[in-house]
Amino acid sequence: MVGLETLIKDLHRIGKVTTSRFKKLGVNKVSDLIFYYPFRYDDFSQIKKINQLQIGETATIKGQIELIHNKRSPVKHMYITEALIKDETGTLKAVWFNQPFLAKNLSIGSEVYLSGRLDEDWQGIQLINPSYEKIYTQSKQIHTAGLVPIYPTTSKLTQKQIRFLIKLTFPQIKKISDWLPESIKNQHNLIDLNLALEQIHFPSDKSSLIKARQRLKFNELFLLQLENLFNKKKLHCQPAYKIKFDQSAVQKFVAQLPFKLTPAQKKSAWEIIQDLEKNYPMNRLLEGDVGSGKTVVAVMAILNVILNQHQVALMAPTEILAQQHFKTISQLLNLYNFKIALLTHTQHQVNFKSEITRNQIIKKIKADQVDLVIGTHTLISNTLKSKIEFAKLALVIIDEQHRFGVEQRAKLIQSDLKQKVMPHFLSMTATPIPRSLALTLYDDLDLSIINQMPAGRKEVITRIVMPKDRMKAYQFLRSQIANGRQIFVICPLIDPSDKLGVKSATSEYQKLNQEIFPDIAVGLLHGKLKPADKERVVQQFLENKIKILVSTTVVEVGVDIPNASLMMIEDAERFGLAQLYQLRGRVGRADFQSYCFIFTESDNTKVRQRLKALVEAKNGFELAEKDLEFRGPGEIYGTQQSGYLNSLKIARLSDVQIIQQTKQVAQDLLKDDPNLNYHPELKSKIENLEKVIHLE
Ligand code: ADP
Ligand code: MG
Repeated sequence: MVGLETLIKDLHRIGKVTTSRFKKLGVNKVSDLIFYYPFRYDDFSQIKKINQLQIGETATIKGQIELIHNKRSPVKHMYITEALIKDETGTLKAVWFNQPFLAKNLSIGSEVYLSGRLDEDWQGIQLINPSYEKIYTQSKQIHTAGLVPIYPTTSKLTQKQIRFLIKLTFPQIKKISDWLPESIKNQHNLIDLNLALEQIHFPSDKSSLIKARQRLKFNELFLLQLENLFNKKKLHCQPAYKIKFDQSAVQKFVAQLPFKLTPAQKKSAWEIIQDLEKNYPMNRLLEGDVGSGKTVVAVMAILNVILNQHQVALMAPTEILAQQHFKTISQLLNLYNFKIALLTHTQHQVNFKSEITRNQIIKKIKADQVDLVIGTHTLISNTLKSKIEFAKLALVIIDEQHRFGVEQRAKLIQSDLKQKVMPHFLSMTATPIPRSLALTLYDDLDLSIINQMPAGRKEVITRIVMPKDRMKAYQFLRSQIANGRQIFVICPLIDPSDKLGVKSATSEYQKLNQEIFPDIAVGLLHGKLKPADKERVVQQFLENKIKILVSTTVVEVGVDIPNASLMMIEDAERFGLAQLYQLRGRVGRADFQSYCFIFTESDNTKVRQRLKALVEAKNGFELAEKDLEFRGPGEIYGTQQSGYLNSLKIARLSDVQIIQQTKQVAQDLLKDDPNLNYHPELKSKIENLEKVIHLE
């Protein structure tokens, strides 16, 4: 018997090929299909008589096939299927291209619906490639004559196949129980879940569609809010190490820095230090534009924790970044005799002594002989061989990995076996989430924002460069090198590919190294290099032995080469705004003027608008707002990387009203029922949600 858990492959008439195509869309079982929502609809709801049709109008007609045959087009030898359709008011021609099977499918005499646009060209008035649907029975049409759903798909899987299969699963929808409390539904005028799920696929009319969307968006946002609030509450009940503020040490540290902290840095550091003094775990996000100086703020927290005789773990998304943090932070803390370890896939050292093995470091961490360990994901890797246990872990810092979240922290806590004490948690990101959004959606996080740059930084001059000006740009590059500066050249791909014309780092490297700048040291960096080679290249660039570094986006996060003054981005339209912004942030880190040249050969207006937004935006937060406008669908600025918002399929971050509404509802509910004891279904729902998120 078919149920919600039935696999697609076990459905009647579904073959292996189709199954694997659905799998690509993330659809494996019946319930996945039900929750696979259309992203738009063709409005074929106007059913007209043939003689009422206007040219240019999109509509549906109902008639009988009077004539149908295939022919070949003379030039391209394409199949053309021509048909004549008749209703009681007249006849109309329809043509389809490259679908010769239609002539068999729609035999003469068949009753059909045809939906499409009526066009007039030299061939006369006709429907071109209309959707069609034979009328067999009384059942409602799903491909024509109504609001017809269009699903996200790959080229191999047709809309018709998806619609057909979804329609097949409809009897299963009523097995889905509506978990939203009746009182909330009534109060907010929400329709039943079953009805909403039916209507989202095959809406009876526009107003039903609106209600269905409203209900399904409410579902997603409400669960998210409830989860946030619930977690925050849970967190406040967990024990954490109290870290006393060592005022004189912090003052001494700040006084010996080669620069003055900005007020925003001081404020953020103060917020963090105060959190650390509490007996429940901090959960704070430190947001600040690229180059705003988050590292030193983190170091002030680290200093405090270590002086309180506790351990710190710092995780970076890449080896390069981990290594760089290791150097910078060791440098910043060199007044103290702290034991600082670097532990990544390929590197293991304590205080720059590298004759120590990975296992020895792990032992030292467990024996409390390491104060700070800096690494990548390997720090929490779960394989038995390298499982890391801490003696007294009090603070976990995650850099540039937005929402690297709860699960990772949970793993780290389990590492502190003796105490079962939850470490304080600080996540740092240059991804600017608009504040309003952060406050409504990321409710479980406290927020510190560094909204000003260190004094003396100059804005990076950003220009879109036309193909004809490329040589001028190269001349400019030369003049920068003559001034002692260094250059980044970023390409979308590592190797040349058959994707026509897209620049690859290796071929661009060859071109620049051999043809254009044979007299200048050019380097190549990308993710496929061996870690040791990567490190060597970065080191040479850092030492100004390489002047031009051709790279992929591996340099996107965090790499700090203050002497670089020019960032050139090839085929810029292939990068997201968030990425471009991060890339540009690699320059402008010292007091000389820096530049970002954006190359594109696209003259698509949308592309131009997007790139222009980068040129004009004053700061990351402004750009984030723009990005929200450009993109909408659940994929605001950088959040895709987190997987966090993958639970949002239909809700948009721009659904501000529902976001606020659901937040209020979740708060009220938890006020009445703090542990969700009276709402077991909801409780298991958010626990499930956690699991789904954390699998990413
Ligand atoms: P991000 O916020 O992108 O992580 P970093 O912490 O890497 O930025 O800091 C960028 C650079 O700015 C570093 O070279 C750092 O030493 C320097 N820096 C940090 N704070 C200040 C300050 N208040 N004044 C001047 N330079 C600073
Ligand atoms: Mg940083």
